[in-house]
Amino acid sequence: MPTTRHLGELRAPQLAAALTPDSIVVQPLGAFEQHGPHLPFNTDLLIAERVAEAAVERIGEALDAWLLPPLAYTKSNEHAWSPGTIWLSASTLLAVLDDIGRCIATTPARRLVFLNGHGGNSALLGVANRELRLHHGLMTFLAHPGLPPDQGGSSPPDELGMGIHGGTDETSLMLHLAPDTVDMSLATRNVPEWLAGNRYVRFGGPVGFGWLSDDFGPDGHIGDPTGATAAHGRDKFDAAVQAFTEALAEIAEFEFRR
Ligand SMILES: [Zn+2]
Repeated sequence: MPTTRHLGELRAPQLAAALTPDSIVVQPLGAFEQHGPHLPFNTDLLIAERVAEAAVERIGEALDAWLLPPLAYTKSNEHAWSPGTIWLSASTLLAVLDDIGRCIATTPARRLVFLNGHGGNSALLGVANRELRLHHGLMTFLAHPGLPPDQGGSSPPDELGMGIHGGTDETSLMLHLAPDTVDMSLATRNVPEWLAGNRYVRFGGPVGFGWLSDDFGPDGHIGDPTGATAAHGRDKFDAAVQAFTEALAEIAEFEFRR
């Protein structure tokens, strides 16, 4: 048996022998988008890739889990105003995900897990989960390295639940994973405090709203990166790897009971 858990490193006969109906295929999703003045474009990509790799390295052999290469371009049109952001439209990404599902369905593997590093993809991935189940008979799952605060996740209290893009946690993760690409001298607080008091219309509130990242000022990040540290980033990373490892174990056992 091969020692790698990266499907791309297998030769065709190896892949044919390796994948079984119990196999779990993990597709990390990143983004190529502006992350404020202090973080690089590949922030979401790097976080998703590293968390997926670490978790599959830890438990892949035990669970028969395998890694696909990360999808670097996804649905980042909330940052379309920022030169250099490369984004796929919702219909394009849905079609890409459907094509990936169709191809996975040519193998014996039946479990496909999206590990999504970019909050702007989540709603579409929820749609894709059902489309792929219907079209290709796959069991589909959506996990995040960290659930965004506007989707039920948390962010440090200072950010008033609005550390959703380039804030404390994400900046800390990058200080841990790729410190040379972070410029903390450019990190500024940008928390839309006017939104925090709303009972209904707020991030994660009962009334959602469409937004673009420049609706909250010209810098492009939303949150407070000023208190970010590599030590906090290491804690967040370890917690994310642990959570995804545990989630994969549950996914391996998951069955519908009809
Ligand atoms: Zn991000």
